[in-house]
Amino acid sequence: MTNSFYRIVSVSAHAAVYKAAEYFKINIVRVPTDEHGQMNVAAVKRALSRRTILIYASAPTYPHGVIDPIEELSDIALGQRCCLHVDACLGGFILPFLSGREIESHVPKFDFSLAGVTSMSLDTHKYGYAQKGSSVVLYSTSVLRQFQYTSVADWTGGLYISPTPAGSRSGGLIAQTWAAMLHMGREGYSRVAHEIIESAIKLRKAVADTDGLELIGRHATMVVAWRTTDRTNNVYVLNDILSSKGWRLAVLQNPSALHFCITPANISSVDALIDDLKQAVQTSRTLDKIPGGKAPIYGLAHGLPDRGVVKELLRDIQDLMLQNV
Ligand SMILES: *Cc1c(COP(=O)(O)O)cnc(C)c1O
Repeated sequence: MTNSFYRIVSVSAHAAVYKAAEYFKINIVRVPTDEHGQMNVAAVKRALSRRTILIYASAPTYPHGVIDPIEELSDIALGQRCCLHVDACLGGFILPFLSGREIESHVPKFDFSLAGVTSMSLDTHKYGYAQKGSSVVLYSTSVLRQFQYTSVADWTGGLYISPTPAGSRSGGLIAQTWAAMLHMGREGYSRVAHEIIESAIKLRKAVADTDGLELIGRHATMVVAWRTTDRTNNVYVLNDILSSKGWRLAVLQNPSALHFCITPANISSVDALIDDLKQAVQTSRTLDKIPGGKAPIYGLAHGLPDRGVVKELLRDIQDLMLQNV
């Protein structure tokens, strides 16, 4: 059972929105991305209805590191009188610290400077360099924020309030997050952001210059994604070859692709990745698969037309993970 409210998300929106939609019984209407990997504005307009409560955009997207056309979406949200959430989980501590020209076009507006943006999420546990478990949601007005509060006035246990979905939480985590932010400071965030984007530009150039590879995504952000362009070069085999050399890339689907997410921990390895990637492309052209590789599994899992079966498999994997051994 879902209630009859809809939110509009791009196919590249983070999977966490499906979790939220399942919890709150909200329907999701998915729109495709355009050739730059950005949320397709025309498709968003077509998908709107009186029941639309929220448009969900990313700055940038997890799969391809692309910043959605949030300026245009802001106008649409204002016209429709619906909310616009900007998922800046990845970009929240990077984009504000860039001066502009670095991401090849420019850093488009993506935040509350746009009147239609009603909420934003930023992960302190990613580029805020705090521990996992801490994250931030921001609202454009305190009136909107009130909708996430719980207040119980007639409970036997007394008066009860809880401002977040999570109940009791560790103050240590909040202190650690605060300490991480103070330690980094504006200067620290700015320095790291520039280093990451410089490396991303270098990796993007190497991918673009490699015969057989094609970049996905128009912006140079921390996520660099690519696919293979000729049939003799299977991207999952390419991944297996890179895995055998110790690289752990994210494996994407629709289209089949890989991405590398640059962080302070791996930034010094980007040159080595470029060398290995160029070599791996040559090797993968001559191979169908490599022994012990996962390419057949990815090929099967991503190619199965019955997504329900894959969903069940994923549920079983979670059972296995939580089982006592
Ligand atoms: C990490 C991430 C999220 C949320 O992930 P959690 O692990 O649930 O914190 C949402 N959107 C994007 C773009 C992300 O990268």
